[in-house]
Amino acid sequence: MVTMALAWFAFGVLTGLWLSFGALTGHIAQHKNIGFGVGCLLGLLLGPIGTVLVLVMRSGLRKCPHCDEEVKPRATICKHCGRELTPMVERVAADKSAGRVERTIGFVLIGILLVTIIGLSIATYAGYL
Ligand SMILES: [Zn+2]
Repeated sequence: MVTMALAWFAFGVLTGLWLSFGALTGHIAQHKNIGFGVGCLLGLLLGPIGTVLVLVMRSGLRKCPHCDEEVKPRATICKHCGRELTPMVERVAADKSAGRVERTIGFVLIGILLVTIIGLSIATYAGYL
């Protein structure tokens, strides 16, 4: 019984770590303007590899034509040099809807994962497995 409890504890810790990788990768991806859902997906599917992948990914940011620093696509003023920029309006709308879809996919995947883990735990406790 002790080994079983230990195994479940290890499983719980590993699952928590894995979910953290998903959340962390999603967070990084959001910062790089790639999309929270995409990052979450990569983090959950690939773990640390997904995190590294997002870190080396090209960001969804664009370059300021005046100072060559990265700024958000919808920015009207460069945060680095303070000069005026033309916002990319068409791309912003597309990015927004894409981001929403990605986020939904991410949350659905996390939900499925959690339900599976909880279901397996209950089934094991009840003695079905
Ligand atoms: Zn600039």
